[in-house]
Amino acid sequence: LNDNLKIIEELESSVRSYVRSFPTVFTKAVGHKMWDMDGKEYIDFFAGAGALNYGHNDPKMKKKLVEYIMDDGITHSLDMATKAKTEFLKKFNDVILKPRDMEYKVMFPGPTGTNTVESALKLARKVTGRTDIISFTNGFHGMTIGSLSVTGNSAKRKGAGIPLQNVVTMPFDNFVNEDLDTLEYLERFLEDGGSGVELPAAMILETVQGEGGINAARYEWLKRVEKICNKYGILLIIDDVQAGVGRTGTFFSFEPAGINPDIICLSKSIGGFGSPLALTLCKPELDIWNPGEHNGTFRGNNHAFVTATESLTYWEDKSFENSILKKSEMITQFLEGLVKKYPELEGKVKGRGFMQGIETPVEGLAAKIAAVAFEKGLIMETSGVDDQVFKLFPPLTIDEEGLEKGFNIIEDSIKTIIK
Ligand code: PMP
Repeated sequence: LNDNLKIIEELESSVRSYVRSFPTVFTKAVGHKMWDMDGKEYIDFFAGAGALNYGHNDPKMKKKLVEYIMDDGITHSLDMATKAKTEFLKKFNDVILKPRDMEYKVMFPGPTGTNTVESALKLARKVTGRTDIISFTNGFHGMTIGSLSVTGNSAKRKGAGIPLQNVVTMPFDNFVNEDLDTLEYLERFLEDGGSGVELPAAMILETVQGEGGINAARYEWLKRVEKICNKYGILLIIDDVQAGVGRTGTFFSFEPAGINPDIICLSKSIGGFGSPLALTLCKPELDIWNPGEHNGTFRGNNHAFVTATESLTYWEDKSFENSILKKSEMITQFLEGLVKKYPELEGKVKGRGFMQGIETPVEGLAAKIAAVAFEKGLIMETSGVDDQVFKLFPPLTIDEEGLEKGFNIIEDSIKTIIK
């Protein structure tokens, strides 16, 4: 056995087999590249499932963080004000909220994605005094009880071992078929009192479902969802944990839809450098919690604030957004080309921006493509309840050459499997 496999074997016996899909031991990463113990280089089309939108070890963020540490900057401060925190809040306001005319209060709900979702559900219930939440098929919102209860994946829900209650799951855009107007059904359901279900506190959804198969909601559909929420006093929660921070082309994924969610969940890449940070944004009038009604030891990590502040520099002008859009177009064209060239895939291109993939009904094929691609030096995951989609998820900062290299590996892998 080589050293890599020996370490994995030891890990598997004592930890849990979480290294299965990428069977090696990684040691180093820069930008869109990673290296393992044997010095083998990989192109990263996974980007920490959206936690590394700016790539690995961004030089400017790294410098800021090293300087901060060398200056004995505050590491942990709980709820005390720190320079790192106030600078982040100011820049978030100046670069992200103000230019978009967005008036929101920023909360630190805890370190991770599931914490922001929990805080959103909890706040919505407190504000409305209602209990139920509407979630959508194939949605993914996290692994703790509240966020799991709104996650539309039975295999994941089983992990709780108990029924997860007070949630009604409705069909996501186009889930059933394109001719069925599921929102008309939803309105009817609400109008009728939902077969005994009281009016819900909130609806929660991702604009592009990252784990559930890269299903992108149409902007028209999102607008109608917002309209229904407004009509019935239901709070609209957009979970932008995965689709946000530029992943779909704009800082917030819902910007092109022109909607104004009541609550927005952010995490993953908001810290910029891969360190845990989460934000919950709520409309100012929803901020009804007394101090201490939602707290946590590790909410608001100062090191993450330092890198997060630096990461927002990317958003100071339009050039970053333009570069994402240009490269997204390359991804779409590549995927559409693949579908045409390889009818054996029976493929369908899905998603938006840097969140695209190909769905194939051929059992096990998407996972096989990802596995062969890994051997050839590309890190790529699958998505969807049946792992039926292979998912291209590179850092937004990847250059065109890196993208092309990744594309070539994917095409080579498909050729290896099909021919
Ligand atoms: N919401 C969405 C949309 C996610 O994709 C994820 C993580 N994949 C979460 C919430 C949960 O985030 P975390 O794993 O950081 O708890």
